[in-house]
Amino acid sequence: MKIIDVTTFLVPPRWCFVRIETDEGIVGWGEPVVEGRAATVAAAVEELSDLLIGRDPAQIEDLWTVMYRGGFYRGGPILMSALAGIDQALWDIKGRAAGMSVHQLLGGRVRDRIDVYSWIGGDRPEDTAAQALEARDRGFRAVKMNGTQEVQFIDSWATVTRAVENVATIRDAVGEDFGIAVDFHGRVHAPMAKVLIKELEPFHLMFIEEPVLSENLSGVLDTLRSTPTPIALGERLFSRWDVKDVLASGAVDILQPDPSHSGGITETRKMAAMAEAYDVALALHCPLGPIALATCLQIDAGAYNAVIQEQSLGIHYNTSNDLLDYVTDPTVFDYVDGMVTIPDGPGLGIEVDEEYVRERAAEGHRWRNPIWRHRDGSFAEW
Ligand SMILES: [Mg+2]
Repeated sequence: MKIIDVTTFLVPPRWCFVRIETDEGIVGWGEPVVEGRAATVAAAVEELSDLLIGRDPAQIEDLWTVMYRGGFYRGGPILMSALAGIDQALWDIKGRAAGMSVHQLLGGRVRDRIDVYSWIGGDRPEDTAAQALEARDRGFRAVKMNGTQEVQFIDSWATVTRAVENVATIRDAVGEDFGIAVDFHGRVHAPMAKVLIKELEPFHLMFIEEPVLSENLSGVLDTLRSTPTPIALGERLFSRWDVKDVLASGAVDILQPDPSHSGGITETRKMAAMAEAYDVALALHCPLGPIALATCLQIDAGAYNAVIQEQSLGIHYNTSNDLLDYVTDPTVFDYVDGMVTIPDGPGLGIEVDEEYVRERAAEGHRWRNPIWRHRDGSFAEW
């Protein structure tokens, strides 16, 4: 079998899909995207296609190695996301050719289903408790929210109080038997992270995410190692080499690589195994589309340390199109008791609605994240 075509599609709300076609008529799909840089990643996929056309799609490790090492420069969000989507499509092709799901090709599954959580915003805290209750009514047993609005290096105590009251209101509403994760979103700098982590301890959070940007971990190591709240991060780490010092630091309890950013199935599985060796859990990042979620579920199936899966159904970014619009059988992602069943179909286990993808790609998108400013006019991390 040979690869004969590699095509990308920018589709609303903010995604990029890649379609890889073979000379035997088997087609695989992947989702290579960095939120806000979809066109840049698509250009990287187009450049990498020189290394794919005419090659056997089954030799994934070799294709991956050449795409990663063969350009001299390597790593980072753009290249690793381009590689990620291509890798997903290659696994999809391999599974379809074999008539097996990807997780079966990789050794079978250790679980039949996995917990998922729902996103409830939190940037502007007015109605997060109502959203948490609504998520519980829809069957979810956990939610994630942003912990704060913009935060200065040294901020007022009112900012801390607002963050604490926001979480307290939700905990009051949902009770103890419900997971609340709080994402600091890399918005918080070390001095305020120390305070917020301590003040949020009484609410028994499921985890705190990106308490600081991972490049700033050294400033809060003592806090992260000593807090009883589990610490999660990894959506901005893209390879085995990016996570090795983070895991060795002992500061992180849950690794969150995004298989659409971290080199696809091939690389993310290896990162998951590294985490397991440090007794660190896995919670794959996925605020993206259906191919990304299907990919995550194929990895979750066989990763013993996977604890919960992010997913974007109804997420606030998805105003024009949602997760289920691009698959022909949306029941594949049916949530039961806050869990989603591992898809068993061939390849990634979903059927992409190609006609609809082409129709929406004609419109495309130019999604960008917001640019925030502090009161003094200086840039604020979103
Ligand atoms: Mg996050």
